[in-house]
Amino acid sequence: MALVRKTPRLGPADAPRRVAARRSARRAPTLDLRAYQVVIDAISDMVSVVSDDEVYWLVNDAWCRQTGVRRDDAIGRSVAEVLPGSITQRRRDTLNRTLRSGRVSVLRDAFDRGGVKQYLETIYSPVAEAVQGRRCVLLVTRDVTAEATALAAMLAGQTQTRALLDAFPGYIAACDEDHRYTYVNERLAQVLGRPLSELIGALRSEVLPPEHAASSVREAERALQGEQSISERHYAASAQRERLDLELRHVAGPEMADGRRSYYMFGVDITERKLAQEAAVAAKDEAERANRAKSRFLSLMSHELRTPMNAILGFAQLLLSDPAHPLSTEQQQHAGEILRGGRHLLSLINDVLDLSRIETGRLAITLAPVALLPLVEECLALMEPLARERPVHLKLGDRQTLQCQVQADPLRLRQALLNLLSNAIKYNRADGDVTVDARLLGEMVELRVIDTGIGITPDQVGRLFVAFERLGARRSGVEGTGIGLALSRHLVRAMGGEIGVDSALDSGSTFWIRLPRGARSGDPAAFAPVAAPPPGPARVERRRVLYVEDNRVNALLMHAMLARLPGVELEHVEDPIDAIERARTTPPALLLLDIELPGIDGFELLKRLREHEHTRHIPAIAVSASAQPADIHRALKAGFSAYLTKPLDLTELLQAVQSHLRTQRSTQAG
Ligand code: ADP
Repeated sequence: MALVRKTPRLGPADAPRRVAARRSARRAPTLDLRAYQVVIDAISDMVSVVSDDEVYWLVNDAWCRQTGVRRDDAIGRSVAEVLPGSITQRRRDTLNRTLRSGRVSVLRDAFDRGGVKQYLETIYSPVAEAVQGRRCVLLVTRDVTAEATALAAMLAGQTQTRALLDAFPGYIAACDEDHRYTYVNERLAQVLGRPLSELIGALRSEVLPPEHAASSVREAERALQGEQSISERHYAASAQRERLDLELRHVAGPEMADGRRSYYMFGVDITERKLAQEAAVAAKDEAERANRAKSRFLSLMSHELRTPMNAILGFAQLLLSDPAHPLSTEQQQHAGEILRGGRHLLSLINDVLDLSRIETGRLAITLAPVALLPLVEECLALMEPLARERPVHLKLGDRQTLQCQVQADPLRLRQALLNLLSNAIKYNRADGDVTVDARLLGEMVELRVIDTGIGITPDQVGRLFVAFERLGARRSGVEGTGIGLALSRHLVRAMGGEIGVDSALDSGSTFWIRLPRGARSGDPAAFAPVAAPPPGPARVERRRVLYVEDNRVNALLMHAMLARLPGVELEHVEDPIDAIERARTTPPALLLLDIELPGIDGFELLKRLREHEHTRHIPAIAVSASAQPADIHRALKAGFSAYLTKPLDLTELLQAVQSHLRTQRSTQAG
């Protein structure tokens, strides 16, 4: 570039230099700076040419306008003379560097213009050829105050945004559509275990552990397609940090300047919530495990207790009813006490087991329309012996209102009603009454057990249905466990009903059970108690019964009990495999099979017996200590023709054996 301007004006002190300069300008044919004046005047930026001795050789109109210095007052004068405020050390250094290096330099500096900051950007370009022996620099200066102010504001804004995102108690990242990080906040960088400088620009698949990378990209793609994306991520505890669980949201971001899409990832720390959830699940599991263990223990205990009870109750029954060796009155009393105590224990075992089954939610309830009258009559008949003992009079109310059906589980309704009846008898006065009646209450039937007993005070009513609560009855000498009413309430509620009491002290109590009415079209006969087969005339012919039982005391009892049936011969085999052999070689008329046997159980034994032609048709009765309805159901389904529970009831056993032997005889006869 060659620039020539008219001879620069120098100060009076510089007279010799000025003269020399004018002369030089005239002498330099290639550097006619004036030729450029027109061009540079058209430029809106300030333009000047300054020589290495800091003298102005050329300035344009914009320069004059903005500095307020006339051109003639500048040319030939030094910068320090014309604009003393503008000559700073940085400017001087930049000028010298440009001259030394021969390269373009840019300087941005700020000036104070009457209290207002002015930012100038000056491009220093070396002039290729010397101007009259002096090396020069072309300065193009632009006022960038507006731009610099905006940039400063933007930078300040960015800094604030970053500070905000870093302070935010969450995890934030921004990515482009190739899944490269464009932003990661400090907190997330710490979790990812890499410095920010490494993360920005890196692919998520390079940064995340493999088990998280694929799912993260998948979630991001969903977000980019406008779908909602919420996922969870678990970071196990490491030497560097504690366990961390994040709930992640991927959200589509705005389109970037180059048209590519971006997305954001926001993570919230949900470790506390997860820990609480896990603790709750663990506690629930533990509670369920404990419950299962308790149930197992109770059912085991119940079985273990039933076996010796079988001997206690069985032999007591035999003693009391042995016509060959009748007991003295005193002995009868003693044996009666054994029987009573044993039965009490048995009912306690049954109740505790039921209660535990209710607590573990394993109580099976099967609802069906149940005819009320036959059920009430059956229960009253069962309670008759207890009532006679007191004595208390059992009465049936209006038969008409009892001629209806309720929606209930017949077995469980019977259990609840028997409990109310036994209480009404136990807590009655001598010669008192117990009346059972019913009334309709809209869609419900109310079954009532009304007694003339000691009554209950209002403050006792609240504790009445609490398990093991006896309200002082313990001291009264009346036998009980305090479970009956608690169990009855559970049972009635499980059938969709309610149980309660209306009572006043000394004027008796009315316990009621309300149940939904059953369908009218039901067949009441189907719910009537199965009439026990009348004991037939004793048969004198010898009938062989094979009893498979591994417990010798039980076998002894069975021998003694069946000895009451003349003509019946009992053969006992302990081992089930021996029993198969024995039954095949000499088929008996009836099989009595214990269920809990060593090696193979009663079910398997029956199955094997059914496989052989000699033993296929022999009727089999299950004799077991398990009294669960489910066990009974299973046994009848498996092909047992009856199910007797231990402790054995003498009458029930004798009737069952007799009736089977009769059926067997008539089948054989036919
Ligand atoms: P249990 O009769 O075995 O003690 P229950 O749960 O059946 O247990 O009854 C709880 C308590 O409620 C009894 O101990 C007794 O104090 C009281 N109770 C129950 N029924 C009556 C009743 N008909 N009259 C007076 N008190 C009763």
